[in-house]
Order: sequence, then C-alpha cells, then structure tokens
Amino acid sequence: MTKPQVIVVGAGLAGSLLAALLGQRSVKTLVLESRRDPRKHGSQGGRSINLALSTRGRTALARAGLEATVVSDGMPMAARLMHDRQGNLTRQPYAKDEQQAILSVGRSRLNATLLEAAEHTSSVEFRFQQKVTGLRDDGKAVQLGKECLEADLIVGADGAGSVVRQSLEALKCCQSVTEPLGHAYKELELPPRQGRHALDPAALHIWPRGGEMAIALPNPDGTFTGTLFFANETFDRLKNEAEARDHLQTHYHSMLQHVPDFDKQWSNNPVGFLGTLRVDQWHHGNTVLIGDAAHAIVPFYGQGMNAAFEDVRRLDELHAAGVNNLPEVLFQERKPNADAIAEMALMNFVEMRDHVGDPMFLNRKALERKLGRWIPKMFTPLYDRVSFSNQPYADALRHGKRQDQLLRRLQSLGLGR
Ligand SMILES: Cc1cc2nc3c(=O)[nH]c(=O)nc-3n(C[C@H](O)[C@H](O)[C@H](O)COP(=O)(O)OP(=O)(O)OC[C@H]3O[C@@H](n4cnc5c(N)ncnc54)[C@H](O)[C@@H]3O)c2cc1C
Repeated sequence: MTKPQVIVVGAGLAGSLLAALLGQRSVKTLVLESRRDPRKHGSQGGRSINLALSTRGRTALARAGLEATVVSDGMPMAARLMHDRQGNLTRQPYAKDEQQAILSVGRSRLNATLLEAAEHTSSVEFRFQQKVTGLRDDGKAVQLGKECLEADLIVGADGAGSVVRQSLEALKCCQSVTEPLGHAYKELELPPRQGRHALDPAALHIWPRGGEMAIALPNPDGTFTGTLFFANETFDRLKNEAEARDHLQTHYHSMLQHVPDFDKQWSNNPVGFLGTLRVDQWHHGNTVLIGDAAHAIVPFYGQGMNAAFEDVRRLDELHAAGVNNLPEVLFQERKPNADAIAEMALMNFVEMRDHVGDPMFLNRKALERKLGRWIPKMFTPLYDRVSFSNQPYADALRHGKRQDQLLRRLQSLGLGR
C-alpha cells in the first residue's frame, strides 16, 4: 500500500469496526495489530468471553450494516435475575418497555465479523503480528521498530495498555492515571444441563453479596459465562481450590452447583485486573486515541465496548464530513462523555453488589419504571438513557442525578410502596 490515509493501531473491537467503516467509504486504511489473526489462531486469553451489547454499540454497527448479523448471533437479556443466599430469585426488567433487551455477544465471534467486514472492502489492509512501538515526535507517523509509517490520521485503538498513549505521555502531550478498583475478576463456564442452558437464558444473572458479587451471561451454545468479582484480598486469601470452593459453597451455592469442574477452572482461569483509566488529553499532531486506550472503565454498566463503538461512529462521521483538526474535535466531544460513563460504571458496581437485593432500592427502581411508563416524555430512567438511547453520557448522568433526587423524595413521602 502507498501512503495510507488512516493508520489504525489495534484490530480489537474498536479498531476493526473503524476499519470496516473507513473501508466502506473507500478510505485507504492500514491496520497494525500485534496479535496473530484471531480467526486463524484463536482469540487471546485473559479477556472477557462475552459482552453486553446495547443501543450505542448497535447504532455504530448499523452504520457499518452489521447490526442484524451481530444481533442474530447474540442472546437477548431483558432483565436482571437476582439470586439471594437462599436461592430465591427476583426479576428486574432492564427497560421501562420490557420488550427491550441488552444482548450477550461473544467477543471472538464479534471480532471476526468486524475483521471480515473490513477485509471485504478493498481499501483496508491488515498487518497482523506488527507491534507498534511508538509515535514519531510530531504525532504524524507510527514507529514499528526502525520502520516509520506516516498517515493523515493515526488512531490509537490499542486497548488499555496502549503504546500510542504511552508515546503521547513520553512526548508530554498527556498524562494518565489508572485508578485500581481494588476488586478483580475471574471467569467460570457454566456448561449446559441436559443439553439446555442451566439457568434462564433470557436474563443476566446476579448474585449480589455486599462487597462482592458474581454474574452470568448466556451464550448461544447453551453455556453461561460466569464472572466472580471479588476484592483483591479475597482472591489472595483463597489459597487453593478447596478454599475457593468453600467460599462459593457458602455464598454462591446456586451458581457453584452449575460448575461441575470448578476446581480445574479455578486453577486454570486467570484473575483479571479492574480499574478506571483517566487520560487528560487524547491527541497530538495527526493522532487520536479511542476506546480503552483513552478511557478504559470498570465493566459494571456493560458499556466499555459500547462507548468505544460510539467513539468509532463519531470519528467516522467527523471524518466523512471532512472536519478540520479531527483529533482535537473528537477529544473535546468525547472526553466529558467518557468521564460520565466512567463515573456511572463505578456507581453501578456499588448498585449491583450492594443494592440490587435491597427492598428500598428495588422499590425505587419499580417507581422509576412506573414514572417512565406514566410520563414517558418527562421521565426516562437512567438505565434506559445509558443502554437504550444514544443520548450523550454526560447528559444522561446529569438527568439521572436529578431524577434520583426526585425518586428519593417521592419515596420519603411513602409513594411507590
Ligand atoms: C470482565 C470484563 C467484562 C466486560 N464486559 C463488557 C460488556 O458487557 N459490555 C461492554 O460494552 N464492554 C465490556 N467490557 C469492556 C470491553 O471489553 C472493552 O471496552 C473493549 O474491549 C475495548 O475495545 P478496544 O478495541 O478499545 O480495545 P481492545 O479490545 O483491548 O483491543 C485492542 C487491540 O489492540 C491490540 N494492540 C495492543 N497493543 C498493540 C500494539 N502496540 N500494536 C498493535 N496492536 C496492539 C491488541 O492486541 C488488541 O487487539 C468488559 C471488560 C472486562 C474486563
């Protein structure tokens, strides 16, 4: 390829969707990816196996003509199903319109769909096993060891450990800080039982235990992917399979009973880090960061990928419109929204782990849904704004805070009981 118009660093979820969109507009695009092609060699370990896809992600996929394909590969989840310690279940619909659902989609299949869509256009070239090592000082070329590749636009879509971001930091163009959550995660597969899903496949399952929790999302092959979210000290304290099994037996019995090979999975599956990455500037020269490279967040709102896809959609729209100084324009628009979803994801961690079993909270949620149905023009629940709309995250958060105050006031007056 002669000089590309755009270089995308990273062919993960954001990078490959961006490549597909640019390719469809015949923009000459070079994608550099450090891994081997995951379609030929399997996907990398240590990443979440499935993800909740919601409206923002779907809107971006629709722009690339891929929404229907991805949706047909996914499992709709219309509600949260809470499991208490006694094994009782409480169902909480996600949206005021109970027909609406978030979707559980497999990461590797989604990534393959995006790579294929990009490759299908004749304007995109992928180079796998090409690890970008940095940026040229002017931000107008990427370095691959001694090789230097220039482009009119360079997009750092290289994930939470982004080398592009580290390069911007080394050039004193930005500062970043990663705030650890203090909790980490471990995934467990729940196999099918008698050929069928072991739990209700139309819901996202939660075992809230105050201070820690577990969740499980369905997969089309009849399995569930469960995730344990424990404090770092708890992972440290559970020294072997027997201690871990005891912990699950005591607190997560109704999950553990569906994991027959628990000991093997506990010892084989890695513990993953969770934290919030804050970056004060995402651009320099022709370069801009998107997705986790710019704003990795904790996964409790199911929005990291959705936010990354929204970055991609806006980048493509601005590029198609021929906007001058795209890196800065994109940063100015997206940064307040990235900050807002980072805050909401942390709020949702506390909600999921501590409150979803609390009667006052459940009562407030029910009241929120009722208001959403009675006065839909005036009252849209925060979850609907975040997951079932494309309203900017910062606006959703502002409205959500105001509405929460109102709900608490109504509750204190005895309404909604
Ligand atoms: C446990 C967990 C659960 C999650 N659940 C959800 C969910 O339900 N819904 C949701 O929306 N989000 C979820 N997320 C977040 C989601 O996984 C991320 O937000 C998403 O993967 C970000 O996509 P990305 O393309 O920015 O980065 P990535 O997907 O990390 O892709 C980055 C790519 O860049 C490549 N790369 C890295 N360095 C280089 C280099 N130097 N040169 C070339 N290539 C490089 C990598 O190999 C990779 O392919 C979850 C995250 C976790 C940890």
